[in-house]
Amino acid sequence: MSRTFKNTGTKYIVTNQNMLHKLEAAVEDLQMKGNIMLVDGDTAASLDKLVAMGEEIKEDLPKIRIISKTTIAALLSTSGTTGFPKAAQLSHYAIIAMLYQLQHAVQPCYAAGSVSVVFLPMYHMFGLCVVLSLGLVQGLQHVIMSRFYPQEYLKNIANKKANLLHVVPPVMALLANHPMVCQYDLSSVEHIVCGAAPLCPELARKLQNRIGVQCILEGYGMTELGVPFVNTEAHHKLGSVGRKVKLVQSKIVSVETGKELGPNIKGEIWIRGPQIFNGYLNNREATDEMMKEDGWARSGDVGYMDGDGYLFIVDRIKELIKYKGHQIAPAQLDHILLDHPDIADAAVIGIKDEEAGEIPKAFIVRKQGTCITESDAQEFLSLRVAPHMKLRGGVEFIDEIPKSPTGKILRRELQTKDAFVFPTNP
Ligand code: AMP
Repeated sequence: MSRTFKNTGTKYIVTNQNMLHKLEAAVEDLQMKGNIMLVDGDTAASLDKLVAMGEEIKEDLPKIRIISKTTIAALLSTSGTTGFPKAAQLSHYAIIAMLYQLQHAVQPCYAAGSVSVVFLPMYHMFGLCVVLSLGLVQGLQHVIMSRFYPQEYLKNIANKKANLLHVVPPVMALLANHPMVCQYDLSSVEHIVCGAAPLCPELARKLQNRIGVQCILEGYGMTELGVPFVNTEAHHKLGSVGRKVKLVQSKIVSVETGKELGPNIKGEIWIRGPQIFNGYLNNREATDEMMKEDGWARSGDVGYMDGDGYLFIVDRIKELIKYKGHQIAPAQLDHILLDHPDIADAAVIGIKDEEAGEIPKAFIVRKQGTCITESDAQEFLSLRVAPHMKLRGGVEFIDEIPKSPTGKILRRELQTKDAFVFPTNP
């Protein structure tokens, strides 16, 4: 947390009592005690309080003129293609472009007055742009939950007669498979929007049969690139992530030669368009690694485009792990493990998991003469990270972490038997 606050130059924190304890260390570290605004209480009163607090500090805030292409509207944390989490800068222009693109793609599923029960975090692009901002533009009614509680979620859908759901694949799995789902009337649900991680086509089919939804929209998105591909109601191919949204250009590029490839040939997905981010804050090197001349951006995902323009994602060459749609940066976990006095070297990878999609597993080299166990390492890490980052995939002790001559961890070599396999088109 301190790292993020330092990197972004955070001055004020708006939060509630429940979250306060998580901030303590960082706030102490950065001496920000006086700059925390708590918004507990009933919503109307809290909003008034927040506005009043804003009035108080108004004079201290820099006066800005918004220039849509360069003024940053949001900083979203992401690990990008490699390394530690970074702050991706989204301009007003990029967000508005994304909303315009999505508006066209998701109609008529986002009809004004549609009711959606929302549990997705709004610090992520899916929650912030696809759910909250697009919902406001379209006039949706959101029933917002502070986090995902399965029973409460199902109860809210039934009671509020929700007709539009925004989910990640593990929630699709719950809706498709869990016996508890039969106890609730979900017949109001017409459309489901799924994103943030690979969706198994079998699962989509099963859910469609079980609760009889009209359409499952799947979006392929990335914090830095918006949502360039969507399976819409009108253009849909199961197993693919759909076709390009308006104003997006894409190409499939050979990882080996850097040359553009033709239809049905796998390569890295490159994207260009007005919704692309403005680079990482204070990290020129990572920005240059990802952004090419002429505005093309590398996704770090591997896929192919069929003859009809549908994109199929088949692999990921970047280091990212996706646990239930949440990002985990393996480099961040390696780094923490290396602080343990008995660990000589460590590398974390994502392995396949039925329920969560992927879970982190650590490969550890013990220091000579030490006997750190799997549970020691798991406990050490879990005390220092958010719950979704725990080493649920376990620990394997090895003699050496495979590395390139430049010292880069060769995570692919560790993945041989545990590899996360992307769902394939049936
Ligand atoms: P994030 O920046 O957290 O949105 O993560 C972006 C990454 O999530 C992408 O680069 C993909 O690796 C993965 N991802 C997002 N949506 C999909 C999808 N529909 N199918 C497969 N992978 C996806």
